[in-house]
Amino acid sequence: MSKYWSDSIKQLHPYTPGEQVSGRDIIKLNTNESPYPPSPAVAAALENLDAGSLKLYPDPLALDLRSSLADNFNVTPNQVFVGNGSDDVLAMAFMAFFRGKTIQFPELTYSFYPVWCGLFNINYINTPMTTDYGIDTAALALQNGGVIIANPNAPTGKLTPVATIGELAASSSGSVVIVDEAYIDFGGESAVSLIDQHDNILVVQTFSKSRSLAGLRLGYAIGHPDLIEGLVRVKDSFNSYPIDSVALTCGKAAIEDKEYFETTCNKVIASREVLTTGLELLGFDVIPSNANFVFAQHTHKAAAELYQQLKDNNILVRYFNKPKIDNFLRITVGTDTEIGALLNTLKTII
Ligand code: PMP
Repeated sequence: MSKYWSDSIKQLHPYTPGEQVSGRDIIKLNTNESPYPPSPAVAAALENLDAGSLKLYPDPLALDLRSSLADNFNVTPNQVFVGNGSDDVLAMAFMAFFRGKTIQFPELTYSFYPVWCGLFNINYINTPMTTDYGIDTAALALQNGGVIIANPNAPTGKLTPVATIGELAASSSGSVVIVDEAYIDFGGESAVSLIDQHDNILVVQTFSKSRSLAGLRLGYAIGHPDLIEGLVRVKDSFNSYPIDSVALTCGKAAIEDKEYFETTCNKVIASREVLTTGLELLGFDVIPSNANFVFAQHTHKAAAELYQQLKDNNILVRYFNKPKIDNFLRITVGTDTEIGALLNTLKTII
């Protein structure tokens, strides 16, 4: 705490990301990164990059990348916004659509949402979960405010059907409904199919998970052109060039390699089943997941202890010391080899 901080900064509770470690022997299953490298087209794009071109500012409109995304999602470039990771896009969306309003989100969800509410002074209401850790969309609907839902949800991994999201948007008139689809590519149907029917749905996705590019920092939003224009107004009042030239080039290469994307997503989905079955055999209750991680609690071993013992064995998973979820571990789906090592270590511990 410093006397130089403004009062509002003193009151912030910043988000704490999972640990980033760089040891060769660490099995890192704590931040939902992809276990696979990005598409070889990204490596080729990097090799072909002319360092001299970096003397120029990047395209502030990121039109080339937005056009590739638009083609991929069968929308038009004016329905696409890009940002410096989906956290950046989400923060701008909170600023553009939620400031001065009351918003709702489920009590168990991505813990960055209350942080942005604190930063932008937004009132929020948490809605309770259903008994099976699902999102109660009827309770979530809100008129003339704002709604945000992660789908699949984090940290539970549970999917809300796309038709239910359409109903949520219809019963939340006057509110923007943000659908944070960071994990949608691992077995869910995107709400992008709804944006022509519902001008209040904003879908946010990322290159960090299913495109294996967490280090590049690229995210995007898809929605009605008026929502996109709102985001552009915020961006251009804050930073005209959030996406650097390297990210523009590599992102385009990644999005255009659909075959590699599908192959790696399918590998993660298959490995998730191996992980789920293995954990169940060891006495875990695993919430059925549609994401690249699972959320599991053991029938008699405390999660905090398991987390520490795994860490002592150079395996990092995520543990949240928070009410209602402090007996769960969130485990990222790694390669089959990493999953094998995790399950063997757990077997020894338990
Ligand atoms: N939404 C959810 C639900 C997440 O778990 C994450 C990853 N922490 C993000 C958004 C942000 O991802 P990124 O900024 O890397 O795109």
